[in-house]
Order: sequence, then C-alpha cells, then structure tokens
Amino acid sequence: MAAETLAAHGVAVTVHDRMPSAGRKFLMAGRGGLNLTHSEPLDRFLGRYGAARNWLAPHIEALDPQALSAWAENLDQPLFTGSSGRVFPKAMKASPLLRAWLARLDGAGVRFAMRSHWRGWSQEGALLFSGPDGDRAERPDATVLALGGGSWPRLGSDGGWVPLLAARGVKVRPLSPSNVGVRLDWSPAFASRFAGQPLKAIAISHGDRTVRGEAMIAAYGLEGGAIYALSADLRETLAADGAATITLDLKPDQSVGQLTGRIARPRGSQSLSNHLRKAAGLSPQAINLLREVTCGPLPEGSGPLARLIKSVPLTLTGHEGLDRAISSAGGVAREALDAHLMIKAMPGVFAAGEMIDWEAPTGGYLLQGCFATGAAAARGVLRWMDEPSGD
Ligand SMILES: Cc1cc2nc3c(=O)[nH]c(=O)nc-3n(C[C@H](O)[C@H](O)[C@H](O)COP(=O)(O)OP(=O)(O)OC[C@H]3O[C@@H](n4cnc5c(N)ncnc54)[C@H](O)[C@@H]3O)c2cc1C
Repeated sequence: MAAETLAAHGVAVTVHDRMPSAGRKFLMAGRGGLNLTHSEPLDRFLGRYGAARNWLAPHIEALDPQALSAWAENLDQPLFTGSSGRVFPKAMKASPLLRAWLARLDGAGVRFAMRSHWRGWSQEGALLFSGPDGDRAERPDATVLALGGGSWPRLGSDGGWVPLLAARGVKVRPLSPSNVGVRLDWSPAFASRFAGQPLKAIAISHGDRTVRGEAMIAAYGLEGGAIYALSADLRETLAADGAATITLDLKPDQSVGQLTGRIARPRGSQSLSNHLRKAAGLSPQAINLLREVTCGPLPEGSGPLARLIKSVPLTLTGHEGLDRAISSAGGVAREALDAHLMIKAMPGVFAAGEMIDWEAPTGGYLLQGCFATGAAAARGVLRWMDEPSGD
C-alpha cells in the first residue's frame, strides 16, 4: 500500500522481500476467506484498537473501511458483508486480489526485488541486503519498513528486524502473541472427541470484559474469535499469575430464569443429554463441556444446571506461542515515531503495519490497520521528501 501510494505520486519504488514471492501472509489470511475489513460504524471500529485508537484514528480515517473496500472493488474484487458485519471478497480468498494488485503495481513502475533479505544499515547509512546474487547496498531517498510481526515466521516475517532497530536506539517492545489460542487441561476423552468442533453463539468473560462470539475446541485448549478478542487481557493475567480463569455463557440470549424454566419441563424417558439438547438447545460439545467441568454427574435440579450453563468456569494454563498466533503485539513503540510514522531517531526511515506496537482482534481490523499505516507512511515519505527538516 505504501508502494502504491508513492508510485501514484511519481516516486520510483523498489519493494524488497526476503521471500521468493510477495504477500505470503496475505495469502494465508485468504485461507480463512480474507476478512479485509468490517462494516460497523467508524467510532466502534476505531474502538477495536484499544490503547492505539487515538494515534491510529487519523490514519484509518484517511483510508477508512469504505475506502479500502472501494480499493479492492477497483481491483475487480467484488465484496460482500457477512452477517457478523465482516467484509470479505466474494472469491473468499486472497490470490485473485493479490494477482490483480501486483499487476497494477507493476504497471505503475514498482519494482520487486524478491529473495532480498534486508540485514540492516552500513556505517554510512546504506541499506544492506543479501540475496542469491550476493550482498548489495542501496541508498534510497527514503525507506518504509513494513517487516511484519513475528507470527507464522515461515511466511517471511520472523521479527529478525527487532535487534537491528534496537541497536539504532529505536524503542521496540518485545513481540508477543496476539489472537492466539489458550491452553486448558482437557481430559484426553474430551479432547479427542471434540477437538475441531465449535462452541457457537456463546459469551466468554474474563475480569470485567465479556465478548460474544464463537470459540473452537482444540486438542490443546480453545481458539477462535471470542478467545482472540480477549487476547491482550488474557496474556497479561497469564504472565502475571501463571493461570487465568474465564467463564463461558453457553446461552447468552437466555436468562437463568428462562433457562431454568426450560430445563424444568418434564423430560419423560429422555436421557438428560437429549433433554438438554432439546429443551435448552445445547450442542453435544456444550453438554459434554458441562460434564468435563463437573468431572462427573451434572448438578441436580434445573436451577443449578441453568446457572452452570450460564457460567462455565475454565482455568487456562497458558497460551500458544508467537509462531501459532494470527498476529503479534509489541513492536516499534508509538513514541519512537512521529505523527507521520517516521522513526524519530532515523530521519527518512518510516514504519508501517504489524511491526508497529498496536493490536486488534480478528474481524478485518488487522489488515485495515496495516493498509492504513502503509498509506500513512507513504504520505509521510512524500512530505519528508518535500521538506526533509520539517515535522
Ligand atoms: C493464519 C492467519 C490468518 C489471518 N487472517 C486475517 C484476516 O482474515 N483479516 C485480517 O485483517 N488479518 C488477518 N491476518 C493478519 C494479517 O495477515 C497480518 O496482520 C498482515 O499480513 C500484516 O501485514 P504486514 O505487511 O505488516 O506484515 P506481513 O504481511 O507479515 O509482511 C511482512 C513482509 O516483510 C518481509 N520481511 C520480513 N523481514 C524481512 C527482512 N529482514 N528482509 C526482507 N523482507 C523481510 C516478509 O517476508 C513479509 O513478506 C491473518 C494472519 C494469519 C497468520
């Protein structure tokens, strides 16, 4: 996005990437349908960026969800909005969009140098690259670093840039997993029977936060949108206490009273599981989750059972690592950047995307944040090339 913005202003751009082809993580995001952005009102949208909201807002307002959608449609990728408000290409993958985009960048004169691994700066300030043809140094007028975070390192972004910037006095917060699964000690029987099955339309609470959505049972614990949305809080509690408690409301649209009434209906000769499935609308995985936490028979009486369904306590023992996370928290500290995303300690060098210290839940907020900061860094470059000394 930075390259496209710069090329549109007549700037000669070379994109270096250590991988053999561009956009590998973007393609991976396409495996889940490529959730490009979200259709909710902008104020709520901006709220998803938590502590980074204030400084990200002007960049996202300059390339907002409508503008990003128009950009994708302009690349002949019709979009649709799912029932959750998430926006996807109708193709439900990234490859057609990436192909059309790379062709347009090529037409705009953007040069791609693949297998070109950036290694840092020479003493004279040149960018150093290594590749199949050996080492090279380049001295561009300006540099945009968009090196990604540290998740899924085999797709290219391995966080190898962290020590390179830190050595230049740039404040970088350690990369840590965001939007990542959490670990739980399931019984082997529960894990083997239910791994890969969803707990749909639930609410998960931790501390004073409650998130509605879906979670997926995994052999190691739980993953999925509702868990990811609590990433930052869970990470903090796990780091401080070594464990964290969450409670699942398996029927968030029904009160304890309503649920009690339904469970109290006569069940005749039906098994309790069948009764709970029919009367309370619980899935087999939800019913077995209740058995899993009680380690035996379910509570007697409709009241206690309804209360358990509304508040299933689970103890988390940890979270998965950065290599398994959807995204990274941490990165270049906001205070190391000026308002135009230039690294204060390194005039002419800008940062964009996931390598900056912000985080957001899944829902299209990650790509939107990356695209918006890419365009913002490019505008910063144009401004700086016009007037290098001014801020
Ligand atoms: C499984 C998965 C699914 C996802 N789904 C979604 C989704 O549906 N919606 C959404 O909004 N987000 C999604 N994301 C997150 C989103 O893909 C990322 O946030 C986004 O791609 C980050 O963009 P970026 O340009 O900052 O970094 P990246 O996409 O990681 O790109 C950084 C590039 O820098 C290159 N690089 C790194 N270091 C060097 C170096 N030293 N020299 C040369 N090149 C280097 C890498 O090869 C890479 O190509 C998903 C992520 C994953 C892992």
